[in-house]
Amino acid sequence: MTTRFISNYHTHNNFCDGKNTIEEMVQAAIEKGILHLGISSHAHIPNQEIWTMEEDQIETYLDEVHRIKEKYTGKIHIYTGLEIDFFDGIGWYPPILPFIEELDYDIGSVHCLYVGEIGESCYVDDTREAFEEGVENLFNGNIQEAVRHYYNSLKNMIIQYNPTIIGHMDIIKKNNNENYFFNEKEQWYKDIIKDVLSVIKDSTSIVEVNTGGIARYGKDLLYPSIDILEQMYRNGLDITINGDSHKIEDIDFYYEEVYQLIKDIGYDRVMIFTDKGWEPFKL
Ligand SMILES: [Zn+2]
Ligand SMILES: [Zn+2]
Repeated sequence: MTTRFISNYHTHNNFCDGKNTIEEMVQAAIEKGILHLGISSHAHIPNQEIWTMEEDQIETYLDEVHRIKEKYTGKIHIYTGLEIDFFDGIGWYPPILPFIEELDYDIGSVHCLYVGEIGESCYVDDTREAFEEGVENLFNGNIQEAVRHYYNSLKNMIIQYNPTIIGHMDIIKKNNNENYFFNEKEQWYKDIIKDVLSVIKDSTSIVEVNTGGIARYGKDLLYPSIDILEQMYRNGLDITINGDSHKIEDIDFYYEEVYQLIKDIGYDRVMIFTDKGWEPFKL
């Protein structure tokens, strides 16, 4: 049976660090037969960064998604979203909060380990050198502490905000190829994951299987790792498949392989977000 690549709720565009316009992303999705598409620019954050939307752009962004939604009615289902950063000690950046009710859904992500004064931060999806330097400065080089800090932030975000989707839940491993920093098979890491999954189970949030790391950095960087996906399956945790797509070519990147992978794990359904909320879609 061929699987239809039903949805992608994690897409970026030129309001943030995506290469294409919202409309180009929508057209690419239609061409690929994606039926449900979410637009999820990076919401602005306390320190303006080049990869986020500018603070005064949010209304323009929401208007543009609305315009495109109307224009393509009947061709594809489009949903208004944002990828929102959680900062330890701040939470979701307060100026974003009034706009959340205008969204159909949100993606909650932790990209930044932030300890103490603003400016003392370390981005988990930065280069390996920058991440390593951040771990040195913020955690005296103790990687376990950095990892614990990351997952504590993730748990706090889920408990506090119940995001519709949890973005790339184990992105802390981004620079960990060949176990450079730690080994995911070690007990301390497994214990952390077990704890995080129990928090997710108590929430209404859905974990995304995110192919964006593979699109940008190679085929070993699936979020979450296969071990975690297997554990999620055993715990009855549902998933949705997302591309974290930053350009039209990546709108369904690695989808075929991932649909096969989750079926091999045992999943016979993915969750799709519709006007009625989350619904199962049989594979
Ligand atoms: Zn992200
Ligand atoms: Zn993203």
